[in-house]
Parts: sequence; structure tokens; C-alpha cells
Amino acid sequence: MGNYKIMVLAGDGIGPEVTAEGVRALEAIGKKFGHTFEFQEDLVGGIAIDTFGTSLKPETLDAAKQSDAVLWGAVGGPKWDDPRATDRPERGLLAFRAGLGLWANIRPVKVDEALIDNTTIKPETLRGVDIIVIRELTGGVYFGKPQGPSTTADGKRAAVDSMYYTEDEVARVAHLGFQLARKRKGKVTHVDKANVLASSRLWREVVTEVRPEYADVEFENVLVDAMAMHLIRRPATFDVIITENLFGDILTDEASMLAGSLGMLPSASLGALRPDGTGLGMYEPIHGSAPDIAGKGIANPIGMLRCTALLLRYSLGLETEAQALEAAVTKAIDDGMRTADITKPGEQALSTREMAEAILDRLG
Ligand code: NAD
Repeated sequence: MGNYKIMVLAGDGIGPEVTAEGVRALEAIGKKFGHTFEFQEDLVGGIAIDTFGTSLKPETLDAAKQSDAVLWGAVGGPKWDDPRATDRPERGLLAFRAGLGLWANIRPVKVDEALIDNTTIKPETLRGVDIIVIRELTGGVYFGKPQGPSTTADGKRAAVDSMYYTEDEVARVAHLGFQLARKRKGKVTHVDKANVLASSRLWREVVTEVRPEYADVEFENVLVDAMAMHLIRRPATFDVIITENLFGDILTDEASMLAGSLGMLPSASLGALRPDGTGLGMYEPIHGSAPDIAGKGIANPIGMLRCTALLLRYSLGLETEAQALEAAVTKAIDDGMRTADITKPGEQALSTREMAEAILDRLG
């Protein structure tokens, strides 16, 4: 019987529509298992720029640090896309992740058997796909200095980004990867570009040093260019994939296509963990604010509901509750419940609310 503080940052576009269903899912779990959730809402992203003149208020970050977990919808949209703008919704997102020290982005990719025909990849390639990608989130080329535009000696335009890592940044990702693999299929695939990049050679060296502590876990190094191919060719052979920030950004979008729709997948961003493996985390579906369907009530809430399951697992340590919610999602899909993004011709599409209700009805 726990009492938990959840920060709710719904953001822009379909963010508020799907986040409302995440909150309802937590309330349903609370009712079923005897927990209470205290929700604190705030504005982030474009709506925060319009309301407060900034995409992320310092007070929002401070309040999030006092919470047990954060549910994040999505931010952004054409209204705030002016490249000359001094603040952008995405700046608030990056500042939030960095401000909370969330250095690991965990993205599970599982193929739902009932939706196996909904993707562009052959069913026999997809059967059995159950992957977790851990992407380093606060280092590498997105943060390394020097960064920015410059000029050459003869006045031509130039620009630089720096892929910089320290051994501690690498080691913590490696430990997390091996520990997660132990609870799953027992295999870690480390992805780098060690044949060319010095930072990748550091990754390979440090991951290799960490590895003996987890001798029971199967391990392989794969170059990122080859990995782009293997993910499509033999996705079912992977279990836990660990990689640096830029490679992870690209590979996770590629991996999301294995599951069919962007609306299906969750992600968890974690930082320092307690000895029991839980800690403050931020949970956001992998999709964006989907301005093309915002306000229509047709967004798929499954990515967000799976986020709440990850929140229960990784921040609150409530594994039984997480599994109950995940099982309800699977049951609803197996029973033919569909939102518009995952229907085939002739199938009826449910609204966001109806889909969430169909799932929560199956909590038992
Ligand atoms: P998007 O993910 O918002 O949408 C891509 C396509 O997928 C659209 O056709 C959309 O309708 C569909 N889609 C997305 N989520 C869906 C759902 N739950 N149900 C049904 N269909 C869904 O990507 P985009 O259009 O490239 O980006 C829109 C905005 O979102 C941009 O401003 C971008 O910067 C922002 N964005 C934010 C985040 C975040 O907050 N973490 C992540 C990605 C993109």
C-alpha cells in the first residue's frame, strides 16, 4: 500500500489527450491494488512558452525532483517551429532530462502477435521480437563541447560537434544493461563505431572491463552500421542493446518500426537508482505531439499506458501492478480493440478514451 507523488507534464498536441489516460490508468491500478497517487500538473513545452514565456520553469524542475516519477506527454508543434525563436519546446525537454540527471533512456520494443501483419516487415522476421534498447541520454555529441558554427581561416562557413564521453558515463550504462539482461533473456549487444571513433573505443574498453562481473550474460559488440542492418534482418536475436546517445537516437526510431505504429511504444528515462534498482524516472511515449490529429480524440493511448506500466516497474518497484497493466493492454489488442492508426480496412476504430477504457476494463 503505497502513497506516491506523480508529476504530470502533458505538454502540447495529443500530449494532454494521452496523458489523461495515463492518469486514469494509475488511478485504476491504485484502486485495484490499494495505492494512492497524488498528481501534480504543470505546463511544459509550447504551451508553457505561450503562458509563462519559457518552455520550462525552474519551479517545474524543482517540483519534479520532489516527486516519485514524471509522466510526460509530448511537446512541440508548428506554432513554435520558428528557427529564429530563442526558446523552443524541445529545449525544455532536453533541459528537463539533463536537470533531472536522467542518463539512461530505456525503450522496450515488443511485437504484439495480433498486430504482426500491421508492419512493413515480414511476420516470420518479427515473430518473437522482444528488445530493450538502452540509449545514453545526457552525453555524447548532443552535449559535447566545442559545439557550434565557426569559420575557416579563409572565411568559409564551418561547424563543429564533439562526441565526448567519460569512463563513468559509459560504465553506468553498461552495468544497467547487464543487470537488465539478467532479468530477461540474458544477452547484451553493445553497439559502437570502434573501428573509426575514439569515443567508441573508450565505450568498447569500458564495457569490456565491466563485462566479467556478469559472466553469466551472453555478450557481443556490433558496429552501428551493421546493427542498422541486423535490426531489420534478425531482430528476434537481440535482447538488451546498449549504445551511446546519437546511435541510440537513430536505432530506436528504426526499432520502433518493428512494432508497427509509433503510438504503441513507451520509454523510460532513468538516472541514479537505489540499491533495489528503482529511482526517479520520466516516462514518455516515443511519439511526438502529432499536430495532424491533435484535438480529434483519436490518438492511440497504448504508448502512454505502457509508460505507466514502466513507471510502476522502474520508479515504484511495483512489478505485479506493471505486469497487470501490460497484460490488460495485450488482452485488449488480442480481443481486436483498435485505434485508427492500427486498424485494417473494415475494422472499427475506437477513440482514445474508448481504447483506454477497453484496456482498463481488462485489468480484472
Ligand atoms: P509525431 O510522432 O508527433 O507524429 C508522426 C505521425 O505519427 C503523425 O502522422 C501522427 O499523427 C502519428 N502519431 C503519433 N503518435 C500517435 C498516436 N499516439 N496515435 C496515433 N497516431 C500517432 O512526429 P512529428 O509529426 O514528426 O512531430 C510533431 C512534433 O512533436 C514536433 O514538434 C516534434 O519536435 C515533437 N516531438 C516531441 C517529442 C517529445 O516530446 N518527446 C518526441 C518526438 C517529436
